[in-house]
Amino acid sequence: MAGKTNSANTAKGKRVVLASRNEHKVAEVRRILADARSEIDLVGLDELAVSVPEVPETGATFAENALIKAQAVVDATGLPAIADDSGLAVDALNGMPGVLSARWAGMAGQEGTDKANLDLLLAQIADVPEERRGASFVAAVALVRDGAAPIVVEGTVRGRLLFHRQGENGFGYDPIFVPDGYDDTTAEMSAVQKDALSHRGQALRALVTRMKEEEHAAQ
Ligand code: IMP
Repeated sequence: MAGKTNSANTAKGKRVVLASRNEHKVAEVRRILADARSEIDLVGLDELAVSVPEVPETGATFAENALIKAQAVVDATGLPAIADDSGLAVDALNGMPGVLSARWAGMAGQEGTDKANLDLLLAQIADVPEERRGASFVAAVALVRDGAAPIVVEGTVRGRLLFHRQGENGFGYDPIFVPDGYDDTTAEMSAVQKDALSHRGQALRALVTRMKEEEHAAQ
């Protein structure tokens, strides 16, 4: 097992903490960064020897929440940190669940699981006709470092919502989301296919571009 460490740079590149304890999210972000030829050596919170307190996601926007989460990690570890915040904005619900996507059923006093969130959303839009079932997955990614301005980037993917689940891959609202220009839901796509078009993929690639631009400007 790899030892827990907090050092700033490694043979693999610049050590940056991802503000997440979800090993699937760490693997997804690591894969997207590697594909974008980033020099970031990403570590998840659980791989660190420092405990980082949970911070409430009180922001009104994805960008604010990503900044809040990344700043909390920098404060606790002294290391640069990346955080993302994402969700589904449904046209027929005026952009909700939005920043409340992960807690949608919990807000309604139900169980706070992906299944309960999706069941609730499907019930809420059951009467919305095909032509008004547009939605966007949105992700904001923030990089916070001591002594440098934060970078915040966003990615969006437009699509439409089905009436019933289709597909077993992915998580959250993937089983009902069909991106524009596709016939499959994101739950029917492979991880690699989804990375290529996803909101998080777009935002992370934008982050890598911004970091490379900064490096060139500093040379
Ligand atoms: P976060 O981890 O606080 O950013 O919460 C994101 C929530 O938005 C998740 O719990 C999902 O409900 C939803 N979500 C974000 N991105 C995706 C995605 O790629 N597929 C499906 N659901 C997503």
